[in-house]
This record gives sequence, structure tokens and C-alpha cells, in this order.
Amino acid sequence: MLTDPAEIRRLARQHEAEDLEFRRYVHGRHISDHPLRERAAALLQTFDCKSCGNCCRQTRVPVSADGIAAIAAFLGMDAGKVRQLYTERGDDSSETLLRQQDDACVFLDAGLCMVYAARPEACRQFPAIALHADLLGNRMPSVCRQAAICPVVFQALEEFKHLTGFHPKARHGVEVS
Ligand code: SF4
Ligand code: SF4
Repeated sequence: MLTDPAEIRRLARQHEAEDLEFRRYVHGRHISDHPLRERAAALLQTFDCKSCGNCCRQTRVPVSADGIAAIAAFLGMDAGKVRQLYTERGDDSSETLLRQQDDACVFLDAGLCMVYAARPEACRQFPAIALHADLLGNRMPSVCRQAAICPVVFQALEEFKHLTGFHPKARHGVEVS
């Protein structure tokens, strides 16, 4: 399975037109995404996320007031202090996000989450296609976005394309092992 984040990002960018074509293919034929979910869940069970941590580098994590309180309790700190030290406002300023440090979530340390037991809901739900079949995150555009970040989703999506008999017009000699 391909695990290099830079290579996955490069291929995902290269697959953008193909992914759009695939979304239309799936939609037009009413193909169930069940095998994709099953495969992503199975891959996630056997994959060591500690060797990756790419979602903690490539995504911005929203955190609610309850989420901040949970982290504060876990760290034995005051919630206001956690907010001040570890969060920042999102671009539209209505959202509170975990702060980034060295191009990763402030809580990522040597590939490990320092607040794992109290991590925000968004972290618990990623990747939604493998973990939360009921969420909007399962929709194909979202799956394609997650495939650019997560090796598990990338692999599951490529296998799903193959399983459905999809032959992309948009692909130009790119093979995925
Ligand atoms: S809180 Fe933990 S799981 Fe969530 S992005 Fe940060 S390091 Fe990753
Ligand atoms: S990007 Fe995917 S494989 Fe990597 S740590 Fe996150 S969930 Fe695990």
C-alpha cells in the first residue's frame, strides 16, 4: 500500500479529473459505496496510524467548547488556558480550531497524539468513510478529498474503482499498486 504522503497528494491531484469522472460513474449507475466502506474499515484495522499521522498534519481540526473542556480535564488545566495555548480562530472567525505548530496539530508529538483519550470529535471521526457510515463525510466528494490525505482512503478508493469496472478516460498511464 502506498503510504508516502507527498506521493499520495501528488497522485490525488493527478486523479482529480478521474475522480470527478468516477463520481459521475458511481452516481449514474447507482453503485452502492458499501464495498468502499468495508474495504476502508478493514484497511484501517490493520494499518498502524502511528506510522502515518498525516491527518494530524493535513487537516485543520475544529474543537467545540465541550471539546476544549475535555482536553482541559485530560491535561489537568484550566479550559481558558487550553483555549489560549492550543487553539486559534478559523478564517471565518466563527470556528475554533486546534492550533498548528511545525505544520502539524499542536498535540502531535513524534507521531503520537498527546491528548488521544480526549481528542476532538473530528479526530475520532476521521476517516469517516471507514468509521462513520452515517456521516456526510461519506459522500464521494468528501471521500475524494480525504483520499488526498489518508493512505487508507486512497487505497480503498483505488480498489473500489477497480471493483466497479471503472475505466477512467482521464487517467494517463498512472498505475497504483
Ligand atoms: S488532537 Fe490528536 S488526533 Fe486530533 S489532530 Fe491533534 S494530534 Fe491528531
Ligand atoms: S491519515 Fe489515515 S492512515 Fe494516516 S493516521 Fe490518519 S487515519 Fe490513519
